[in-house]
Amino acid sequence: MPELNLDLQMHGLYAGGVSKNMEIPVMAEQSKLKGLDALVTADILHKKWFEHVKKNLVEESNGVYADLKGKCNFIVGGEVEDNRRIHHLFYLPSLESATELREKILGFGNLDCILCGRPKLRLSAEQIAEKVVECGGIFGPAHSFTPYTGIYAFYDSLKDAYGAMHEKLKFIELGLSADSYFADLIKENHSYAFLTSSDAHSPWPNRIGREFNRIKMQKPDFASLKKAIEEKDEKLITLNAGLDPREGKYHATACNSCFAKYRIGKAEALKWRCVKCQGEIKRGVRDRIEMIADFKEETHPEFRPPYLHLLPLAEIIQAAVNSKGVNTRAVQSRWLSLVEKFGNEIFVLVDAKEAELREADKEVAEKIIAFRKGFVLYIPGGGGEYGKPIICSGEKEMLEKKKELYRELEGISEEGMQKTLGEY
Ligand code: ZN
Repeated sequence: MPELNLDLQMHGLYAGGVSKNMEIPVMAEQSKLKGLDALVTADILHKKWFEHVKKNLVEESNGVYADLKGKCNFIVGGEVEDNRRIHHLFYLPSLESATELREKILGFGNLDCILCGRPKLRLSAEQIAEKVVECGGIFGPAHSFTPYTGIYAFYDSLKDAYGAMHEKLKFIELGLSADSYFADLIKENHSYAFLTSSDAHSPWPNRIGREFNRIKMQKPDFASLKKAIEEKDEKLITLNAGLDPREGKYHATACNSCFAKYRIGKAEALKWRCVKCQGEIKRGVRDRIEMIADFKEETHPEFRPPYLHLLPLAEIIQAAVNSKGVNTRAVQSRWLSLVEKFGNEIFVLVDAKEAELREADKEVAEKIIAFRKGFVLYIPGGGGEYGKPIICSGEKEMLEKKKELYRELEGISEEGMQKTLGEY
């Protein structure tokens, strides 16, 4: 059975803060360079976006959609916000079922404004789940742990969130700030498949596919996705890949205006007001998970695939050549030559042999290999600011940097807080 790479959460140009380039032909072309075999249609309930999707996809066979040039397959789906501001993902068998779902939710919120790609609905999580299932679809919480719109920010248990529909819940999406290690510290999550997706707002390969799933699928369609999610013990999902959670914008507890980081006890004592700027301190995913965790140590259900931590190739090249950004000519030309040689970015990052990488680009190869071996430190993100990876050349440099950057790596920025340091 073919093993495909899928990125199943992103937005089209009618969701807020999304690149104008987020259109099906560009998404398809870039996904090919990235090494993704299938994407989600995204935002399929939005009228104009639906028309765009319909015009730009063909149904190759029953329920299998591809762009007009046949570069990438697409699974019908999208994201909605419920009446408590929690975000949910859904996937559907066909464009017809998307029309059916749209009709069911018309009148429960504005679906078609210029920023309504992810519509806010006056419906509960349970009601949304019901409607999705009535249309033959599957649902689950999006970026489940993020402090503003993740389900675990509002509920201690998914059972409470979805009510009777909880029985039909089969997957949860982890989001950039969590991985399988963190999510499986909560016992009830051992009942669900995990999806890892980029939530990309632009189509470039440092955004799409920055998180993806590798899944054995008979066909790149909804039916095969549903099977992989529902029949977990078949182990059809073979890999979850994504950013290290410390790179996520809400990993550590931090001020959401100046990004100063706080230990949770200190934040509570300060009543969630930043001492530096009086901004609001936002509880990070790491601390939230610690509050509701059932386990203290890493543990996974038998079916859980490995979680591979990744960085976009352009960011690794940026570190290798010491460039100002990922869009400089120096980074882009080396990115292109590697992708042309090996076929796509995911192959370069995950699958290419060390010797062949070294032959193609020695400097970049050393960084990729160091990254694969785990010689990476992270200054954690928080309060809306992404974390920063530091790729070291080997164990020695990593130990030195660890000492040097101790406080930053722990996610502490307040003077005198070292005393209250707990174990991370
Ligand atoms: Zn602040």
